[in-house]
Amino acid sequence: MKSHARVVVIGGGVVGCSVLYHLTKFGWTDVVLLERSELTSGSTWHAAGGMHTINGDPNVAKLQKYTVELYKEIEEYSGQDIGLHMTSGLMLAATKERFDWMKSLLAKGKYAGGEATLISAQEAHEMMPLLDPKQFVGAVFDPHEGHLDPYGTTHAYAKSAKKNGAEIYLHTKVEDLVQLEDGTWRVITDKGEIRAEHVVNAAGLWAREVGRMVGLELPVLAMEHMYLITEDMPEVIEFNKTTGKELMHCVDFDGEIYIRQERNGMLMGTYEKDCRPWSPIETPWTFGHELLAEDLERITNELEIGFRHFPAFNNAGIKKIINGPFTFSPDGNPLVGPVRGMTNFWSACAVMAGFSQGGGVGLALANWIIEGDPGFDVFAMDVCRYGDYATLAYTNAKVRENYSRRFSIRYPNEELPGARPLLTTPVYDKLKAAGAVFGASYGLETPLWFAPEGVEDKFSWRRSTDFEAVGREAKAVRESVGLMETSGFAKYMVSGEGAKDWLDHMLAGKIPAVGSMALAPMLNEAGKLIGDFTVANMDDEDFLVIGSGIAEDYHMRWFEQHLPDDGSVDVEPLNLGLLGLSIAGPKARDVLAKLTHLDVSDAAFPFMAIREMDLGMAPAIVGRVSYTGDLGYEIWMRPEYQRYLFETLMEAGAEFGISLFGLRALNALRLEKAFGSWSREYRPLYGPYEAGLGRFVALKKPADFIGKKAAMEEKLSGGTLRLKTFIVEAKDADVIGDEPISYKGEVCGWVTSGGFAHASGVSVALGYVPKEIADELDGWSVEILGDILPARLQPQPLFDANGSRMRN
Ligand SMILES: Cc1cc2nc3c(=O)[nH]c(=O)nc-3n(C[C@H](O)[C@H](O)[C@H](O)COP(=O)(O)OP(=O)(O)OC[C@H]3O[C@@H](n4cnc5c(N)ncnc54)[C@H](O)[C@@H]3O)c2cc1C
Repeated sequence: MKSHARVVVIGGGVVGCSVLYHLTKFGWTDVVLLERSELTSGSTWHAAGGMHTINGDPNVAKLQKYTVELYKEIEEYSGQDIGLHMTSGLMLAATKERFDWMKSLLAKGKYAGGEATLISAQEAHEMMPLLDPKQFVGAVFDPHEGHLDPYGTTHAYAKSAKKNGAEIYLHTKVEDLVQLEDGTWRVITDKGEIRAEHVVNAAGLWAREVGRMVGLELPVLAMEHMYLITEDMPEVIEFNKTTGKELMHCVDFDGEIYIRQERNGMLMGTYEKDCRPWSPIETPWTFGHELLAEDLERITNELEIGFRHFPAFNNAGIKKIINGPFTFSPDGNPLVGPVRGMTNFWSACAVMAGFSQGGGVGLALANWIIEGDPGFDVFAMDVCRYGDYATLAYTNAKVRENYSRRFSIRYPNEELPGARPLLTTPVYDKLKAAGAVFGASYGLETPLWFAPEGVEDKFSWRRSTDFEAVGREAKAVRESVGLMETSGFAKYMVSGEGAKDWLDHMLAGKIPAVGSMALAPMLNEAGKLIGDFTVANMDDEDFLVIGSGIAEDYHMRWFEQHLPDDGSVDVEPLNLGLLGLSIAGPKARDVLAKLTHLDVSDAAFPFMAIREMDLGMAPAIVGRVSYTGDLGYEIWMRPEYQRYLFETLMEAGAEFGISLFGLRALNALRLEKAFGSWSREYRPLYGPYEAGLGRFVALKKPADFIGKKAAMEEKLSGGTLRLKTFIVEAKDADVIGDEPISYKGEVCGWVTSGGFAHASGVSVALGYVPKEIADELDGWSVEILGDILPARLQPQPLFDANGSRMRN
């Protein structure tokens, strides 16, 4: 065994072998893979080997497309047969709601060049005679689906990597990992030790245990999963004989099953409601090439529907039942990337669809290790999308929920109940008593809207029961004053003598003067948006930085990677140690004035000013800014003062009819100002000029900020896209995000977010379109649930275009 390697990959499943292959493909050949047994000895060997490109998240869909297209390449390069069967596939809908969902899924694929099409149940039957067309409303046909041999595929990656110079040591178990002062890793195995610059955790079923070797509790859990294989079926043999083709894959969402041909019979698997975690506390190291005991009773309900939807199964004998474990993260997406707070420790685990996603995961991770960046937008599978709230028990609850809902519809306004409530603030009960309907964001219960008595959130693709109430909340802000909780934002205190210079280097915007705030995008070296913050200069050595709540760990990882090691700068995530309330609307100043003796007139406390001040008896930090785009204040306080401040503000606001509003009304309000939001309008796919944030990029400031050169180039070239606002002639449904935008009938862009802007009475979509046509007022359309709806470009903000409400 080698004594040194640049990278050690732990785990020879499909994911580890893909990572190894991609590292060598990009020129890093001093790389080693360690496997405790034979290759494929985790969940890989008993996988059903199905793969497809369609995914609800367009960025994940791109990775899946990459994976599927890679198979021919590795088969040829390695000379290893991977048993590829590109059969094509059907997604079947048994209800109208499901068909609506499929329409929206399909629409998302359009701008990415997806070739899937909607077909009738009868057409589906003609393609796949085993299904009973009477059971279905319609289907999606996808030409890019199929299955392969998991063993052959894993070996093809491994052989290709070896051909490029990688080494693989089988029967070598990693027993411990120790990082040395110089940052290198001692990889301690039962066969000796290797010193490595980088360690990749691709340990699949044991990823949690390998994480624990370095003190991590990764949010990953294995679930039992069953599929059955039938004896030969005459219907299958007949179809093969008469058409010369294999039967295609089917995912039957309402039956919660998937089927495909297996030799002369069929394979049927299910994500059953009555699901079971496997080894919830610790995966036994003794587990090898074994299967779990079959438990047909647990999947009887699903099989019954399956047999009804595909009647030929009723006459087929069952040859084999496979029950094997494989791993999931709480949202079902992989956990990929560098782990925050550690040097050169990489995660490539929780890949539940290794044959659809393994190639993309390997590509992203190899790019990340070699170039310092995954090369595309992988936030949906970034290991940093979870904070420390994702404990073992949280993960258990969420993974079970996710598994059992794998084929369920998730409506755009649907909040899932698993592992909730977990994080709450002191005003939670008060908001709840006022009718708050909560969503969980980064573990925190956050009010979405306030339901009048007797009204509940009804999940739908269309406008729903919250519509009127959200409208009232939004209008109340515009007409008088509203209060919302803003604790869900991420807050960081950046302090120290080097803090100002460091922020100047990290952020593309200007660092404000003492007592002021500024909006500041953050860019990566390639000049793409990796954050947008409000920076408040408290005293030139302490800066309160406010950003997106869901990106707290993601941003902390970046901050920590760039901290100077002389101790001159400290970044502390304040998390729920600092909570927020915000008041907004034309009467907001009057409310504030009642609680302080200080002058809060526009002259004394102008737009973007920030002050420490007592409100009533409570110390607070008050910034004059509001995401509603109205006159407003963000008020930050220690948790122990939040209840008092909430009551005091509500009391002071009573004479102005102050009302509570939630995130849905905030969304309606910010759309009227065309304010973008992190992870929708602003993400590493876009440059600041494309995103309309160019005015916040201080190219002339002396500091050499990260991404400056690329930002200069983008300004010169203008980039390729523009973020624009459209008014859509919507009917009873508004955009959600990812719908295609067309110009003169041709799909040319995509929606990032939108909704109904209640105070203006119009349906709004924000989205990216090519810059060459981005100023055209007419000729646009947006697809919502299969309807192509005319849209008009909205060149200025719908509300307060000159900003006088916000600024005066
Ligand atoms: C019944 C079933 C059906 C499935 N069907 C499909 C399907 O149709 N399509 C699809 O895409 N996916 C399917 N899957 C999921 C698929 O199997 C996984 O996505 C995939 O196997 C994950 O691969 P991996 O490399 O991450 O993990 P694993 O396959 O678990 O590999 C991890 C490897 O790491 C090794 N290892 C662990 N710890 C150490 C250590 N300390 N030292 C050295 N080596 C170590 C293990 O021995 C193992 O070989 C199915 C899974 C099951 C159970």
